[in-house]
Amino acid sequence: MAATQRIVIENCSVATVDADDTEYASGYVVIAGDRIEAVGAGRAPEGLENVVRRIDGTGHLVTPGLVNTHHHFYQWITRGLATDHNLFNWLVALYPVWARIDERMTYAAAQGSLAMMARGGVTTAMDHHYVFPKGSGDLSGSIIRAARETGVRFTLARGSMDRSEKDGGLPPDFAVETLEDALAATEATVDEHHDASFGAMTQVAVAPCSPFSVSTELLREGAELARRKDVRLHTHGSETVEEEKFCHELFGMGPTDYFESTGWLGEDVWMAHCVHMNDSDITAFARTRTGVAHCPSSNARLAAGIARVPDMLAAGVPVGLGVDGTASNESGELHTELRNALLVNRLGPHKEAALNARQALRLGTHGGAQVLGRAAELGSLEPGKLADLVLWRMDTLAHASIADPVTALVFGAAAPVTASFVGGRQIVENGRLLHVDEDAIARSTRAEARRLAEIAGQG
Ligand SMILES: [Zn+2]
Repeated sequence: MAATQRIVIENCSVATVDADDTEYASGYVVIAGDRIEAVGAGRAPEGLENVVRRIDGTGHLVTPGLVNTHHHFYQWITRGLATDHNLFNWLVALYPVWARIDERMTYAAAQGSLAMMARGGVTTAMDHHYVFPKGSGDLSGSIIRAARETGVRFTLARGSMDRSEKDGGLPPDFAVETLEDALAATEATVDEHHDASFGAMTQVAVAPCSPFSVSTELLREGAELARRKDVRLHTHGSETVEEEKFCHELFGMGPTDYFESTGWLGEDVWMAHCVHMNDSDITAFARTRTGVAHCPSSNARLAAGIARVPDMLAAGVPVGLGVDGTASNESGELHTELRNALLVNRLGPHKEAALNARQALRLGTHGGAQVLGRAAELGSLEPGKLADLVLWRMDTLAHASIADPVTALVFGAAAPVTASFVGGRQIVENGRLLHVDEDAIARSTRAEARRLAEIAGQG
């Protein structure tokens, strides 16, 4: 067997995001194969064998790779529409367009979403895909292929909708699957693509869309399916006041109680948004270790409100960050969400004590790994974990005069990525993707967005 190859990064600042928030003003990281072998202060140890590359990290900050915990890739080709709507009006405006997607569009949109995130420091991505029009092809397979080609670690949350307008739901009748079809297709996706091993590049979660687009049976049976298959569960929860009202009217209880009654609280569950949570909702999430994907830009864009992230963290709720779909967050970047999480939460009741820069970085790294159930593998720079890490350039005009590098990363402009590694394999070099062609993706996503607009316009 060939000896393990090593990559040494040194002369850089290091923010490990370990349990003690250990940082080194000048330090090193040694990558051996797909793992982190050593992290520390000063120069890397002498006498390391099989060093195939030495990176001089002068002027850089090294952090764990960013982990995105909520997204809808297909929305990459419906950006900039319904820009002045709240969630329900926005959904009603866009469902008829989304219901016309096909495999080619989904693949191009996934490429665009992944490329944008990866060149901004995301090393683990997820896609909550819940629109499966009849005869649209192998959408799940095409999304997974795009993730593999980009080189990021990936969770496909196989979504579904079976509560349409005729059942009191929000999506039009033609945009949903039947309960039986949704469950069978989800199970087949788990069987075909889910990898439970340490360092897996592809995982699958069971992910009915939301209380107002899926039946109670789909939630219940989806939870049973996930537990039988030992995979995670994901959905949208407590996003808006309208959703709360909907739940009270249809089920006689708020969203969190409804989720608990259908088996949807637990340490294997994470939910997007969780904006409208009272104290007992937060206590229930903390007690059951249910995770939250905080999406501050999307919540602001759709005027949903401010999630109570400081209260969730104080109660012990696992919290990660999410881009959310790019029809409600056109930038599609996660590194800017670190800043937005901090700023938006400071507009809430905790004011300047709401979140600090270190907490924001933790949400985007270790917190994300926690809610995806992968904190033992990734999310911090510690020996034995996967070598998923980013070198942020901090010595240019944008950041060079900011007092410390973590503050610069979170409070400053979006920082350039000099290099990004997933399992020791480099995927970004000087802001450019190494394994896919960004310009070709820009062209194909534009073409597919036009094709979708044309088809939907004829609809
Ligand atoms: Zn969403």
